[in-house]
Amino acid sequence: MRCPYCNYHDSKVLDTSHDSHGGIRRRRECFKCKQRFSTYERPILATPLIVKQDGTREEFDREKLFRGIHISCAKRPVSAEDIERLVGHVEAELQKMGKSEVSSRVIGDMVIKGLKEIDQIAYIRYAIVYLRLDDLGSLRKEIDNLLKG
Ligand SMILES: [Zn+2]
Repeated sequence: MRCPYCNYHDSKVLDTSHDSHGGIRRRRECFKCKQRFSTYERPILATPLIVKQDGTREEFDREKLFRGIHISCAKRPVSAEDIERLVGHVEAELQKMGKSEVSSRVIGDMVIKGLKEIDQIAYIRYAIVYLRLDDLGSLRKEIDNLLKG
């Protein structure tokens, strides 16, 4: 870690502390100019690979998930921030699982749960695609469930 004042390549660690997010803060003193500064290291969580219905794997794609949800929310009072928040929530949950692979169903379930809270019409649209509600009977059942809840 180079000194931010003089760019010297080495510094002395004065003390080290850990925070609740798994990060490490170090107070340092530059060997050359003696200025003090702090550095912060944090682990970067890896997002598991997504296993699709057909067994193929792909990287988790924030943009793609955002687009999918956005389409369901067309002309609904759902802001881009709401969608962004939901996508962020899904990503954080995936990372917390600490797995190398996760079924795409897990993501679908999280999105559908989130959409149900945000907007019921968007939820139904997403459910039609995701739960493959391709007949009116199962669609009606889903709507009945919503109206009951
Ligand atoms: Zn320095």
